[in-house]
Amino acid sequence: MSVPLLQVNDLKKHFPIKKGLFGRQKEFVYAVDGVSFEIARGETLSLVGESGCGKSTVGRAVLRLFDITAGQVILDGKRIDDAQPSTMRQMRRRVQVVFQDPFSSLNPRMRVRDILAEPIRNFGLAKSKEDLEVRVTELMDIVRLPREALNRRPHEFSGGQRQRIGIARALAAEPELIVCDEAVSALDVSVKAQVVNLLQDLQQKFGLALLFISHDLAIVEHMTHRVAVMYLGKIVEVAPRREIFAAPRHPYTKALLSAVPLPEPGAERNPIILKGDVPSPINPPKGCRFHTRCPYVFDRCRTEEPTLRSAGGEQWVACHLDALPVS
Ligand code: SF4
Repeated sequence: MSVPLLQVNDLKKHFPIKKGLFGRQKEFVYAVDGVSFEIARGETLSLVGESGCGKSTVGRAVLRLFDITAGQVILDGKRIDDAQPSTMRQMRRRVQVVFQDPFSSLNPRMRVRDILAEPIRNFGLAKSKEDLEVRVTELMDIVRLPREALNRRPHEFSGGQRQRIGIARALAAEPELIVCDEAVSALDVSVKAQVVNLLQDLQQKFGLALLFISHDLAIVEHMTHRVAVMYLGKIVEVAPRREIFAAPRHPYTKALLSAVPLPEPGAERNPIILKGDVPSPINPPKGCRFHTRCPYVFDRCRTEEPTLRSAGGEQWVACHLDALPVS
């Protein structure tokens, strides 16, 4: 069996916060609390869930933007969560990111030419000045932006064009995995579809793997291979796109998907309204973390934490129920 491109094993990230008059007593935000998944080469795994569920923290841990509390992040068979700076340099080239807000992630004082040239230079990917120029112009062609725009600065572009520049910058490092952190969330609907189509084309062309972090399930349904659903720092369900959208097995997934609009005009789902708010990640509920809002809660849920178990095929669910009641 081939090694997955990315393996995340029992990842935990607990952020300390100080409490009390002199800030002595420490509490923790349990942002990510035991998350495991894999991504194969050329695969898109979407990480979905409400705001604050920990999905962006997982993305940042994969990018090693901070030290993790526990667990392992393994790229192509090698651990990167504890890698030395020399190893990390190569790893950083192989895993790139596209953030939500292209305006704040692009240096406003730099011309597009320099924005794209920077990673090529940093990772030693051009043999000469001429080669660098060829690569930079190729990147503009790849993301379908005019070459004459190379001398412009980010504020001279629309939101969709800026996101294309962000994608070109990520591609400049010739990565194998791109973390797309709400990469299309801030865009208008039509622009969103164009950028998603571009990402799909690039994935095919370059065999890229994508960790697609999003709260927009309509977009996810259109473009992913598998979906992992997060709730309060944990993955509650993971399955191939078709299975999860056709027959979600976790009550939380079912509620999330019930809010996704159907493509047929006039067609509607029966939205499931969950009671209450998401509990605080500082003091998550015992047992199943979803039990305070679950319509099917029973005694065992309040004391025993469910672990991910096979629900048939490649569908995995963390719930004590054998099957969801038919509604
Ligand atoms: Fe609901 Fe219990 Fe399943 Fe948690 S374990 S999702 S509370 S039925």
